[in-house]
Amino acid sequence: MSAKLTSEKAIELENKYGAHNYHPLPVVIDKGEGVYVWDLEGKKYFDFLSAYSAVNQGHCHPDIIKALSDQAQTLTLTSRAFYNSVLGPYEKYITELFGYDKVLPMNSGVEGGETAVKLARKWAYEKKGIEENKARVVFVHGNFWGRTLAAISSSDDPSSYKGFGPYMPGYDIIDYNDLDALDKALKDPNVAAFMVEPIQGEAGVVVPDEGYLAGVRKLCTKHNVLFIADEVQTGIARTGKRLATDYEDARPDIVILGKALSGGVLPVSAVLADDEIMMCIRPGEHGSTYGGNPLACAVAMEALKVVERENLAENAFRLGELFRQEMQKLVEETELVTLVRGKGLLNAIVIDDEESSDTAWNICMALRDNGLLAKPTHGNIIRFAPPLVITRDQLMECVAIIRKTILNFKK
Ligand code: PLP
Repeated sequence: MSAKLTSEKAIELENKYGAHNYHPLPVVIDKGEGVYVWDLEGKKYFDFLSAYSAVNQGHCHPDIIKALSDQAQTLTLTSRAFYNSVLGPYEKYITELFGYDKVLPMNSGVEGGETAVKLARKWAYEKKGIEENKARVVFVHGNFWGRTLAAISSSDDPSSYKGFGPYMPGYDIIDYNDLDALDKALKDPNVAAFMVEPIQGEAGVVVPDEGYLAGVRKLCTKHNVLFIADEVQTGIARTGKRLATDYEDARPDIVILGKALSGGVLPVSAVLADDEIMMCIRPGEHGSTYGGNPLACAVAMEALKVVERENLAENAFRLGELFRQEMQKLVEETELVTLVRGKGLLNAIVIDDEESSDTAWNICMALRDNGLLAKPTHGNIIRFAPPLVITRDQLMECVAIIRKTILNFKK
């Protein structure tokens, strides 16, 4: 169908007929395989965004596509009005893999976040004894968990929340990576939960100090507050472990997964918790027509199996170290790059310019011309998050592209 379409025409169509709620880099992707994508004119690129870490298993992973295709020809949707034959086996698999009693399946990542907040409120009223409608949830500055009204109500980024009020009540926002502030905030007996990303993705790959997550765990236990880990971007091997919270003694009470849970095939999200929390929600109190559909369950189960079978966490850990070492050389060689940070294959470089500048964008345009796709997050940070199936040789090829582009870049 796209044979006669040019990139120019495709962009024109999106501009004319689509809402302008995104500002994409001007490249029109027509095909993907593993770490590569191709544009409509057949130019090949390394994908260094992986659809915001949804394509950890690589584009169109054959095993995941086979699971999709097999299940699509058998049964796709029943709604939860009936049982289906794939949901139970998937629920057994995912709960055993992550070590929780139960899972609640949803679709998008933000629905996972909404589910976690609802669960925490319900638990607060039923188990913690907080007076009805008084429960509070604590978030941190720089958090990002999606675009619904509940999610933007916790945001401190005006481009997320401005113009969309009134906002959801019952939220507090404290500093990230600040255990004293958390200890203080959790003293309020009406606090039900603390929801946090183990590494802040959209904020620019902000990695907290070692010990922060373990500290969060301790404080939540001390104050009888639920620790909700938003692992939508960091989970499923991205940061070099199955979950980013696995780096420390920091088992969350509630884990939210999304993105790579389907390997970039369908919107599939999941909330994991033990019975004490999950059983607070009863029939009719929460759900979604597509949540737990057989197609999504078959895809998600295979997407998780691929991560395990192909040791993607280990690969991300090993190649992430190498990548940061190589980027650190750039920090030393050019004043343009001031910092590299990240874990596993979720990394970012900070560009020496104002947040309002277009330097990072222009570098991404030059990277595109040189065959590598990345996107700035804020004006001066570039996130690098390739599919986790990338090999060492491919990674070193990408390092060479990034080096060449940055060392030749003129502001
Ligand atoms: N949570 C985190 C940490 C995210 O990075 C995102 C999306 O970028 C979300 C939640 C929302 O996921 P979705 O866009 O699938 O709703």
